Order: sequence, then structure tokens, then C-alpha cells
Amino acid sequence: MTDHTCDQPASQNGRLGFSTQAVHAGEEPDPLTGATAPDIVMSTTFVIEPDVSFSAENITDDTPFVYTRWGNPTIAKLERKMAVLEDAEDALVFASGVAAITAVLLDNLDAGDHLVMSDVTYAAASEFANEKLQRLGIEVTRVDASDPANVEAALRPTTKLVYLESPANPLIRLTDIEAVAKLAHAAGAKVAVDTTFASPVGVQAANLGADYVIESLTKYVCGHGDAIGGSVAGSHADVTALRSVAIHNGGVISPFNAWLILRGATTLPLRMRAHEENAFAVARWLEADPRIERVIYPGLESHPQHDLALRQFKNFSGMLTFQTVDDGPTVARRLADDLAIVHYAVSLGHQRSLVCYLGTDDLLSSSFHLTESQAAAYRGYAGDGIFRLSVGLEDAVDIIADLDRALG
Ligand SMILES: *Cc1c(COP(=O)(O)O)cnc(C)c1O
Repeated sequence: MTDHTCDQPASQNGRLGFSTQAVHAGEEPDPLTGATAPDIVMSTTFVIEPDVSFSAENITDDTPFVYTRWGNPTIAKLERKMAVLEDAEDALVFASGVAAITAVLLDNLDAGDHLVMSDVTYAAASEFANEKLQRLGIEVTRVDASDPANVEAALRPTTKLVYLESPANPLIRLTDIEAVAKLAHAAGAKVAVDTTFASPVGVQAANLGADYVIESLTKYVCGHGDAIGGSVAGSHADVTALRSVAIHNGGVISPFNAWLILRGATTLPLRMRAHEENAFAVARWLEADPRIERVIYPGLESHPQHDLALRQFKNFSGMLTFQTVDDGPTVARRLADDLAIVHYAVSLGHQRSLVCYLGTDDLLSSSFHLTESQAAAYRGYAGDGIFRLSVGLEDAVDIIADLDRALG
């Protein structure tokens, strides 16, 4: 372990510590019953006065709960907690991470506007920009954002938004969020960053200058693989503008899922410490194993951007990738057949360890549509394909023994 830790100073400047906030933010004992745990309010409809407006455009901070697609007491608790965890003014919760991403893109971009987007992002975000946004008349430039100079070169007077993912799924390649935010703001563009792989324990991108901080709550924040959700944190003005897009898109989270995620979030700091500890053990073991070609983990000195990771991340999370000496698809078959503890499955950030193989040719042709130099940079991190491993909360020795056996 390094001396690097996700512990934030407690009670600094009169503010509560991060773990205390994770437990208590957004939640308080029920004033009527004294119940300490939050209720799940499943009601779609709330009794109102006849003068309440029914238009999404007219929603203000004083609008009462009317209809759950507009707002709901259980969802509001999770929104409060996310705002506090991201150290942002406000937050909005969605039915999924993808619903959060598309709301930010659609709220900021009109025909004729220009988007600068990281060339490697969660596949659905890339596909949405490459296909749907371009059909709507929005110009999209994809850049390898791990070098801020590439972002700077792509900025135009019409650039409205710079969209980043750090660490990027699946490469675990990083972007200097602070440097890119300075460049974008100087050019009059806003910055959105998806920090799902790190969670707010790893990085609070709002403090590095991001205007929108996006999480797939499905991953670390929920942490248990049983609820899909997404969030966007930012200024009160930006989040309020997003709310009307969300109301019209209709991708509202179920209050039950919001409640599960709210509960998961209370143990996020504790879980991230354990994910990081396990990931270090697994990454070091993999790096020393002759069957493994290469390991990418931001906490290892061998990560090409380890210095940036040390500077910008308070926790390196449980996400790593590795390449094998043997042919990737053959090893993938072995892992799917022989792993007993680690599940061969997509998704990440759960208590259960999850692994899957991502072939480079497949991903480049289906999702990313990269230029030659971008594809070369991709291969610099992923070769012909990588195993993406989400190290869970089992005992590290058991995860390692399971991988050791199944790798053959
Ligand atoms: C999973 C994921 C998403 C999408 O989230 P959903 O909740 O599945 O819609 C977005 N970004 C990243 C980095 C992800 O890993």
C-alpha cells in the first residue's frame, strides 16, 4: 500500500468528514415517526393546491412534490447525498448512467454546435455521439484527451461542451481534468466528466473545474449489483436546467432503486478502501505472473500516467485491466468455464469480482470509430484485447487463487 488514502480530513473548516457525510447527507430521522432509516415513497402522485403549475419550465425550488417524474422524496434524498459526495451545489438522479449522459449532451448541444469528446468513453456514450448527435446536426470531434493539447487543438468558437471520462472505460487511461477544464473554459465551453470508475471517493471532479460530474450509480455508488441509476452533479443553475430535459426524456429512477443506491452510498468510502486494497494485491500478483503480459492499474508505478493518478486521485479504486501471453479469446473461454469466485460478466464496482474480455478490433469497429493515430494510442493501452477486472470485496487470497487456477 502507498500512503495514499481516500480518507478526507474530518471536520475541516467546520465541515463534516467524508465518511460522516456519506452516512448522513440527505437523510434525517422521519419527523413524524422518528424512523432513522429513510422510507421508500413509491407514490407517483402527491396532493397539491390548485394553483401549482403543470409545466416542467415552471419548476422552482419551491415547487412541492407533484408527480414522481418531476421529483420524489426518496429520489430527492439521493440527489442531496450525491451533491454532497461530489462537493457540488446540486445533483440530479436518473434511471441509468446513460440517461444522465444523454441528458447532459442534449441539454448543452443544438444543431450547429460543436462537441469535443474523448475518443474512448463508455461505449453507449460514444455510439450516441457518433450516430444520434451527428444526425441532429451537432458536430463532433473525438480526441485522445489523455493529452490536453489534443483537446486544445480541437476547440472552436462553436464548441459548447467538452466531454471526458477519467479513468476511461475500458482502458483506465486518465485525463488531466483540471488542465482540460482551464482550456475549455478559456474557449467558452463547459466540461462534463464521467468519473464512474473512480467514484467520488477517488476524485471530486467539480473541484477540478468540471461543470457536470456524471456517475453511473449502478457501479460503485450502489455497490451491490442490484439497482441501475445515474447522477449528474454541478451548479444549481446547470442542474435546474437539466431537470426539465430529464422530465421530458422521462428516464426517471424508481424510488425503490433510489433507496437501494442511497443505502449503498452510505458505505461507499469504506468499500472503496477495501476495493483499492484488494486491487493492489491482485494487480501486484498479476504483474509478477509469467502468464500475464501487462497490467494497467493507476496505483502501480507501471501505469503510464501514474504521476497524474497520484496528483488527481485520492483512491485508485478496484478497476484494473490485464493482457495475457496466451491468445485473449482462448483465455476468456478458460476463465468463463473455470472461475469459481470471480464471475465472468460485464459491469463493475460490485462486492462480487467481475471479469470480461474486450477484444480491440471488436470495440474499435462497433463503438469508437477512431482515426489511425487514435487506434494506435488505444492499442498502446489494450494491445489486441484486455481483460477488465473489477476487483470485489472477497478475500484477496481467494480472488488470486481463483484466477491462478482458471488461467491454467
Ligand atoms: C456503466 C457505465 C455507464 C453507463 O451506466 P448505466 O448505469 O449502465 O446506464 C457510463 N459510464 C461508465 C464509465 C460506465 O462504466
